[in-house]
Amino acid sequence: MLMREAHCHIGLLGAAMALPTVTRCASVGEVLAMVGQLARKAKPGQWVRVLGARHQGWRERRWPTVGEMDAATAGVPTVVMSMDWHECVANTPAMTLAGLAPGARVGANGVVHVDANGLATGLLIEHAAYAAWESAPAAPAGALPGFVRAGLARYQELGFAEVHDLRTEPALAKALLEMDASGELARLGVRVAMFPLVRDLPEVFEMVAQAGGCGRLRVGGGKIFIDGTLNARTAATLQPCAEPIAGCTLGKMMVEPEEIDAQMRACDAFGLPMAAHAIGDRAVRAVLDSVARVRPATPGTRIEHCELIDPADVPRFAELGVTASVQPCHLLVDMPVLTRVYGHALHKVLPLRSLLASGLRAGSLVGGLVFGSDAPIVGPEPADSVLAAMTLGDGFASLNPGEAIDDATAWKCFAVG
Ligand SMILES: [Zn+2]
Repeated sequence: MLMREAHCHIGLLGAAMALPTVTRCASVGEVLAMVGQLARKAKPGQWVRVLGARHQGWRERRWPTVGEMDAATAGVPTVVMSMDWHECVANTPAMTLAGLAPGARVGANGVVHVDANGLATGLLIEHAAYAAWESAPAAPAGALPGFVRAGLARYQELGFAEVHDLRTEPALAKALLEMDASGELARLGVRVAMFPLVRDLPEVFEMVAQAGGCGRLRVGGGKIFIDGTLNARTAATLQPCAEPIAGCTLGKMMVEPEEIDAQMRACDAFGLPMAAHAIGDRAVRAVLDSVARVRPATPGTRIEHCELIDPADVPRFAELGVTASVQPCHLLVDMPVLTRVYGHALHKVLPLRSLLASGLRAGSLVGGLVFGSDAPIVGPEPADSVLAAMTLGDGFASLNPGEAIDDATAWKCFAVG
């Protein structure tokens, strides 16, 4: 069986693979020892950035304090990012260089966490976490091809023959076109489908034309963001979530329906389907409504993630020929937020069995049910999604037991159909 990764970020995966991780650390002490060692090796101006923190799994079940971080890292700006990229802990130099004041709000839902005395704890949430992360000096200009190579090599190792990149910046498209032209994609044995933001489609098409077309590379569609995420509580839902952020009781729609229609028509004009990031049931419905209005001539409109689908909308996927591109492996990390914040909607979590029963075909890119990982948000290992699809949970507990599918069907959702 040839396997397809239907949703990842190749360049980011390669970049993440080049960074150290604390995934093997079992305690706060081990994390501090690791960042301390990296800080001692850092050259002037360099930051220490590590990935993969899962503080619930550490002996102390807490993040390091800012005091502990400062003591361990001797003035070297340091950021320890959570495994799901939704929060991090930073030391004082990193927060200072990132301009993050105690208690500050950053972007739509970023918070610089403070203790009862109003002092920064080092914990940074959502946009505050990204702000600290991105304040480190950027990777050198020529680094991207190396990251892409590393990311694709990882997919080759896992046995994937096709990889879909779900937000292909023009710079990434350029790197991929060069790898295609030099025969490197052929040597890796992978085909790549690029999904630039709809606004970047003309530029990417121009690049493809100038390169004289592409062999193992293609433009797969245009990407659009309809809502936010569950962990950030910005996924657009039909009912209020239990712990809404101020002014976002039903999450957050990023675009008006007219804009979804317009972007769908723009993709259609390029002969491409639209791939819409929609996580909450309200966002999913907005995309289905748009398909019903626009009726694009190009088949294969995709809804990425659709982690919550209202029962009334389940049959509409097959009726409208819309593909559900889902990442069951996210349940392995999203179970706490789903039960705590979206407890009212657990019967809407990835209704895989009902989607297939209503006519979606496992592995098909038109009116299909396809699996991916969204790496590097989580790891790219397909077995994680298969396990999560078989339990609709983390392998131990299930969020939506009636909607689980068997392992053969789950693997078929990775098959190049
Ligand atoms: Zn993604």
